[in-house]
Amino acid sequence: MNNINEPISILKKYYGYDDFREGQESVINTILEGNDCLAIMPTGAGKSICYQIPALMFDGITIVISPLISLMQDQVKALKSAQIEACYINSYLTDLEIAKVFADVSAGKYKIMYVSPERLDNVKFWEYCRSLNISMVTVDEAHCLSQWGQDFRPSYLRISEFVKRLPKRPVVSAFTATATAAVKNDIIERLELINPQITSTGYDRTNLYYRVEATTKKEKYIVDYILQHQNQAGIIYCATRKNVEKIYEVLIKADINATMYHAGLSNSNRKKNQDDFIYDRKDIIVATNAFGMGIDKSNVRFVIHYNMPQSIENYYQEAGRAGRDGEEAECTLLFSSQDIVINKFLLENKDFSNVPHEDVELVKHNDSLRLKAMIEYCQTTSCLRNYILTYFGENKKGNCNKCGNCSREYKVADMKEQAKWVINCVAETKGSYGINVVIKTLRGARSSKLIDIGTVNYKSYGQLKDETEVNLRTLINQMICDGLLVQTDSKYSVLRMGNIDRLKQAEPYNVKQCQSVKKKAPSNNIKDKKDETLFDLLRKLRLRLAKEEGMPPYIVFSDKTLVDMVNKCPKTIDEFLDVSGVGQAKAEKYGDEFIGAIVEYSRNSSKNMNLHENDC
Ligand code: ADP
Repeated sequence: MNNINEPISILKKYYGYDDFREGQESVINTILEGNDCLAIMPTGAGKSICYQIPALMFDGITIVISPLISLMQDQVKALKSAQIEACYINSYLTDLEIAKVFADVSAGKYKIMYVSPERLDNVKFWEYCRSLNISMVTVDEAHCLSQWGQDFRPSYLRISEFVKRLPKRPVVSAFTATATAAVKNDIIERLELINPQITSTGYDRTNLYYRVEATTKKEKYIVDYILQHQNQAGIIYCATRKNVEKIYEVLIKADINATMYHAGLSNSNRKKNQDDFIYDRKDIIVATNAFGMGIDKSNVRFVIHYNMPQSIENYYQEAGRAGRDGEEAECTLLFSSQDIVINKFLLENKDFSNVPHEDVELVKHNDSLRLKAMIEYCQTTSCLRNYILTYFGENKKGNCNKCGNCSREYKVADMKEQAKWVINCVAETKGSYGINVVIKTLRGARSSKLIDIGTVNYKSYGQLKDETEVNLRTLINQMICDGLLVQTDSKYSVLRMGNIDRLKQAEPYNVKQCQSVKKKAPSNNIKDKKDETLFDLLRKLRLRLAKEEGMPPYIVFSDKTLVDMVNKCPKTIDEFLDVSGVGQAKAEKYGDEFIGAIVEYSRNSSKNMNLHENDC
């Protein structure tokens, strides 16, 4: 039996886990030895435990600087549910409430106190902290320190000064999921970390399945996908408020239990819709990228992007909101060439009022490089995971065999002749029609619309009648990306001529075409129907208990813990404690209810199936 004062015993007792994940133990040991550290670990890797366990072991209190109120509230709820005393101070608390927290902290009630960075702008808070025995200052989401990142928070810059003013320098630990070399250096310098140990477990999120679907029938794709993934929580990201509202309507019409979120809604509506999703009252949320920062919901099983985001950084962050619990989850990006037009438009109209005049050109240049990489991601036929990892500076491994591209077969074809006919057709339209008319015309479609507008009389009409629509669409998309064609961003987007020099050269014009899908994406690891029924039953029980406590269901137990429960079928408290994610406090609180449900389920199913009770 381990000593209860060892990190591994605390992990088991409070969090219910048997082993540390990659990087956790070394970060914890570094901190316990009194050293500063910077840990770069992907979302869902388990950064919180890395500072919470030392915080529990240190004599004094740990102050965690966390950028978002909802995040800190969630963390405190999760800690309390594991019977760890923690508190937070933010602008939502009244002066009286803050005074009460201060008094409790001074009395030694808490081991961990979360504060927003803006609290550091408050002189009284500095004075108060000087009276405390602070063992550690933890900086969560430390990339907010860097102007290079998109989440820069000026108040973060005060942290080093705050630490210096304390009577005794505490350990400083910093955590982030997104650190490029520039951001990493910024964090170390601006926090004035002393010989920090840097732990980087890489960017890979092995439980996420990535896919890109080139389609113009995006609404249908989304509805079909959701109907095939019933009862799963999912986020649909759109580039604009208008699209959010459009997709939301489509889902409601299809009788899907959805809500929506964008900056145009009133504060109260936003809060209500967000809570409906977090508390599992709604399965789906359709949102702009305003949604997500500060959302800790761990049981999001899929993220679909209706539009391509502006950068791989944005995409990885948004898609990364899937599967935080480590269970299998899917990230799908729906791509059409129209997305390039929308994003170029959004970038051209970006607000630069906060950017110093002399930096505007550089920022614009970087924006366009980021967009280019994003477009490449949508068009590559190689491993999508490798593309992302390479982008973040990690070495390529073999193909992941767990992304849409690794599941597909492609063939490369020289489509120069076809490309020339596309150009001819666009020239004949004199830039008046969009991609659909061009494709239909080239394929010689018999439609009254084509007769009305006269494209049936073009020379190009029917010249590519043997090509599939998908192949022609892929070709035209590539021609747009390569600048041979230009797609306008007017309401009725049309195709115009671009620079066609490339087609005049001797080289072939290679286009990669999808031939077939080899493998299906893996689903979660509940294998047979009987298990799914039990899983569903336990989910409902979790929802009821969460409602009674006013808590998000994933804080009661994560999906991963429910899956383990289904697979282990515990029938005693000891067996229940063996389930990953069940610590002592939760076993005492919820054990009877869950064990009762499992026992009853196995009794009923063995009655029905005339099987032995132990077959659960
Ligand atoms: P991050 O902050 O890195 O995104 P979290 O700290 O929120 O990740 O942890 C993500 C999930 O992983 C949580 O459900 C957490 O309880 C779980 N987790 C953390 N450490 C372990 C571990 N050693 N074993 C199993 N699950 C873990």
